[in-house]
Amino acid sequence: MTDPSVPDEEPSSKHRRSGERRPDAPLESPSTGRLDPPDWDTFRATCHQVVDEMVERFQHQAEGPVWTPIPAETRERLAGPLASGPQELDQVLDRVRTDVLPFTLGNTHPRFFGWVHGSGTPAGALAEFLAGTMNANTGGRDHAPILVEEQLMGWVRETFGFPDEATGMVVSGTSMATIVGLAVARHGATEGRARNQGTPGIGVAGAEGRLVGYATADGHQSIRDAFSLLGLGADALRPVPMKADGSMDPEALGRLAAQDRADGLVPFAVVATSGSVTCGAMDDLVRIREVADAHGIWMHVDAAFGAAARLSPALAPRLEGIERADSLAFDFHKWFHAPYEAGCVLVRDGELHRATFGGRADYLTSLDEGPAAGETWPCDLGPELSRGFRAFKVWFTLQHLGAEAIGASAETNVRQAGYLARRVRREAELELLAPADLNIVCLRYRPAVDEDEPFAETLSARELNALNREILLELHTRGLAIPSPIRRGDAFGLRVCLCNHRTREADLDLLVSAVLELGRSLVPVA
Ligand SMILES: *Cc1c(COP(=O)(O)O)cnc(C)c1O
Repeated sequence: MTDPSVPDEEPSSKHRRSGERRPDAPLESPSTGRLDPPDWDTFRATCHQVVDEMVERFQHQAEGPVWTPIPAETRERLAGPLASGPQELDQVLDRVRTDVLPFTLGNTHPRFFGWVHGSGTPAGALAEFLAGTMNANTGGRDHAPILVEEQLMGWVRETFGFPDEATGMVVSGTSMATIVGLAVARHGATEGRARNQGTPGIGVAGAEGRLVGYATADGHQSIRDAFSLLGLGADALRPVPMKADGSMDPEALGRLAAQDRADGLVPFAVVATSGSVTCGAMDDLVRIREVADAHGIWMHVDAAFGAAARLSPALAPRLEGIERADSLAFDFHKWFHAPYEAGCVLVRDGELHRATFGGRADYLTSLDEGPAAGETWPCDLGPELSRGFRAFKVWFTLQHLGAEAIGASAETNVRQAGYLARRVRREAELELLAPADLNIVCLRYRPAVDEDEPFAETLSARELNALNREILLELHTRGLAIPSPIRRGDAFGLRVCLCNHRTREADLDLLVSAVLELGRSLVPVA
């Protein structure tokens, strides 16, 4: 019998936990080091080849369709399990060439007009590659990547007229930036109690002391999501009526806030929008600021794509008042053309920002110098600890292209939207579904039956919607152009968002011709 209190010198393999090393086994195995290339020269040659293909793709993409249907075999291959063992680099690249590269969404193509997608730049792609080699973790500590991000934030502060004390960072996108901005607003409104105790009045609709905030019905979905995530409840986001141009009615905001306060609720934040996703409406930030001040509420600005207008002297006045926001959220991956993903949050009151998220665990203690130094780390400003080097591609793109070129490109898009809107107004068979004052044009096809009465009701509202749905689907599946679907009230239409620096006038002409031709060929005959 063995004494159970004395452990076996060498437990039988049956009892050894998997991964546990036999005491006599060598420390390294034959496959050790296999995670780096076995032959650097071969690797280098493959890299050069990939770079050539990448440049080729950028150069010639406009010649192909915007979008190509994904063949069933491709779907099947991508749905199966991953290969169990290692494969040669070339083998993996071949899979990429056959199954991935040909079937991307098309947002780098000049005729991609859907949603609000960025079209990227070749320089940005190069930056992504470089960032991959550094594999920086920018959660904190003292290294150049942190300084690069801080330099970029300095530029952001200056560009948007924020004070030096304002703090910010690069986040995944405007959705995350809005969560961060509103978290700071909530922290301020509850004098810090929300961080540990949650939000007063939670769970009881209309409860005394419940925090409520404001945005228009055209405000982005991510605002509601932020209210949900922050425990305020999406119902605590109250819709402010809009003016005819789709912007927030600041006077209505004032009335709502006053009424809510009288009802025992606590108005704490308004989310103004600079560039609404529906039609590019720009809120009157100067007036909203005044109303917000009168009611003691935080002004968060969602300028997801609209922020780029600040880089154009002609468009910048539309963002007047943005410099007085308490927090600002916008994207570098939309109208700034940096590769996905990169958004930005900037908070005027840096101290409040740090108080909202700061306070580090023991294992993240800073040292006075060396790699563990640094007073404020990006992880003190948001919920993320490990963070990639998202700032790099933005910094790189701005350094290389210059802010002026990015602003000029936005200006071109606005002129193109004006051109498209004029064409729509001129064509008897097309109509605008929303104001088109910035870079977004919502339109639909509507058959003209009679020269003298072009808008005669020939189709029911349902038929008209079905027809436009079909037109859009044909545009998409034939790879001609990609507007996105939009509903305006009961009307279904095509939404053309021009934030693509590759789009040319000829692309818009092609779109209009295609819509007219498809409309005429698809219209049901009575
Ligand atoms: C795209 C967009 C968002 C969300 O930004 P993400 O980068 O997708 O998270 C918010 N607001 C507006 C107006 C947008 O266009």
